This record gives sequence, structure tokens and C-alpha cells, in this order.
Amino acid sequence: MSSPEFIPVNQVLLDGNEKKYLNQCIDSGWISSEGPFVRQFEEQFAARMGRKYGIAVCNGSVALDAAVCALGLGPGDEVILPAFTIISCVAAVLRAGAMPVLVDSDLATWNMDVDHVKKRLTSRTKAIMLVHIFGLPVDMDPILSLAAEHGLWIIEDAAEMHGQTYRGRPCGAFGEISTFSFYPNKHVTTGEGGMILTDVEGLAGKCRSLRNLCFQTNKRFVHEDLGWNFRMSNLQAALGVAQLERLDKFVARKRKMGQQYSRLLAQIPGLQLPLASAAYAESIYWVYGLLLGDAIAFDAEEAMRRLRELGVDTRPFFWPMHQQPVFRKSGLFAGESYPVAERLGRRGFYLPSGLGISDAQINQVAESVRRVFS
Ligand SMILES: *Cc1c(COP(=O)(O)O)cnc(C)c1O
Repeated sequence: MSSPEFIPVNQVLLDGNEKKYLNQCIDSGWISSEGPFVRQFEEQFAARMGRKYGIAVCNGSVALDAAVCALGLGPGDEVILPAFTIISCVAAVLRAGAMPVLVDSDLATWNMDVDHVKKRLTSRTKAIMLVHIFGLPVDMDPILSLAAEHGLWIIEDAAEMHGQTYRGRPCGAFGEISTFSFYPNKHVTTGEGGMILTDVEGLAGKCRSLRNLCFQTNKRFVHEDLGWNFRMSNLQAALGVAQLERLDKFVARKRKMGQQYSRLLAQIPGLQLPLASAAYAESIYWVYGLLLGDAIAFDAEEAMRRLRELGVDTRPFFWPMHQQPVFRKSGLFAGESYPVAERLGRRGFYLPSGLGISDAQINQVAESVRRVFS
């Protein structure tokens, strides 16, 4: 028997105007962040998400650093965020000298449990950093009313939510500052890249300045503040403009892919599949995650190893923030427990989910999953 085709966890789809726009960069010589695609991408992306200002940066992680810094968060301030997320979120809060305060996740949606947010409010709480996870947005209405009631800022990490909506309003439209990533596994990619969105002119200016080393317009090399070089190049923005043209198609394709996986995997006992929808949104399946129920005798690590033997590449879910060795060393989050986040970290992983995957490959992945769990 011939060995099956190896299926990588992510395959990209660059079959629109990407090449054409990249050629324009090369023909014109505009390759740095000063090139015209950067401004075009910022304006078009902000407009698509219903925001006034877009500030393109070099990845989604630093977008969070800039957001936290622009809001002036620092020592003595607390920021509430989910335990189940990428390290970038906690890192941005810590690097600003502020204190991350964690909440557990909802077992059905895998998003932060909004009921827990209220319990973690203190007089020092300044912001909620919410993170939309995998396919469904966070339930925003309760968060928005809490934030309004207590005068809290919302930092919205929408890195996985391009084109998703919450009750019809675009994700990325909910934060004082909202951020995106354009890493190749995101459904709009620039290779590496990120975007900061806001409606507040002052915050937009602050983020622009922070992105560009806080150079000044008149005395360029005289600095009033410390910034970073977080700039996006014209080459990256050229990809972004081409990708954004097809966002609706990408979201439709993602939904089809997710539905195909769900149809094929529905009968496997003990396997929790992603929710297809909530009252406020239909999943866009940024990645197609699986959560192993208690009836399955092994953990995600073992499941992933077995799938790899069958030629299927996978990735684990996020590992919860309170169990990160780097924070254990300093005693941060000591003694804290978030059972759902822990379960997700230990028992969850995701299947090949990139836009470049074919229906035949999805069938092959599902067949391998069935073999592993039967
Ligand atoms: C991908 C991702 C990021 C980080 O983006 P990079 O561009 O890889 O730095 C941040 N937050 C979430 C939720 C993500 O999924």
C-alpha cells in the first residue's frame, strides 16, 4: 500500500492579485513601509471592519503591545483576559508593567466565560482584553455593559476573526483598540503582519508614533517617548490588499470546510466538535478544533502523534497562561486554577485548516481521525 499524502496543518491560498501587486512593488521600487500599499491596506481594512483608523504593524503580537501602551496601562493597573489564549496577550500586559488577571473559558464555545469577568473586577481593573477564539466571537453584550458600567477599556484581540461578525457587527469593531494578525494561518495573510484599529484619533496617532520609534515630524531624531520599529513593509501590505479583496470568499470557504469536517466526524463517540453557531454568530472555523471527551483514554498529545503516523499534521490548542513555566518561575498566577482552560490545553488540538486544503484532503484527514478514534 502506498503511504498516504502528508497533509500539513496549514496550506496558504495566494491565487488572487498577490503576484500582480508584488510585481508593482518591485517595478516601482517601493518595498519599505513608505510605499503606497501600506496606506491603502490600512484604509481598506479599517473600512471593512467599520473603523476610522487602521495602523499596520509587523505582526499581531506587537499590535497588542502598542495597544496596551497607547492606552497608558502600567503599574497598578489590572487587565482581565482569558487564561486560554496565546502568550502575546499576557506578554503585552506584563511588559507594560500592568497585572494580567485571568478568567476561565466556556466549555462549549472555548471563549472566555463572561460570567467570570465580573468576579475578577477590582478597583484597579482598567481594561478587559478579550480574545475571540477559533471560530466564534466572545459574547460581547455582557462585556460591553460591564465595561460601560465600570468605565473599562476594551482591547479586542480579533487575530482569528477577520470577516466574522457579532450580531451582525464586524469583529474588530468592538474595542477602544482592536487588533488583528496576518500570520499565514490567519485567513487574511501578509506572511507576517498585524493591524491596529480604533475610532479615536488620539489613540491612532499614539499607535502610529509607537510603531515608528516615536520619531517626530520636525525634529525627527529627538524623542519625547520610547517607541518600537513595528512597521509593515509595502511588500506585506501588497499581499494584504490582494487578500482582503477575497475576504468574503475566504469566510464562505472556511464555513464550508468546517461543515464538511463536522459532517464527517459527527458520529465519533467522545469527540467534542466545534460549535457550528451561537445565538450571536455562525462559526467561521478559523481552525477546526477537536476536544477529547473523558471517554477517550488518551490526551491530545497522543492523538496528535497517532494522526501524524497517518500523515496528518495537527497543532495543540493553547496551553493555559497560569500553567506556563515562564510565569511559574516568578510565582505569577501561583495556586490559580481554571479547569476549562486546563482541559482545553490538555485535551484539545486542531486539524489541517488552511484555505489551501482540498475537499479530498479534508476527507482523508477525517478518515484518519476516524481510524484513530475507532
Ligand atoms: C495569531 C494570534 C496572535 C499573534 O499574531 P502574530 O501575528 O503571530 O504575532 C495574537 N492573538 C491571537 C488570538 C492569535 O490567534
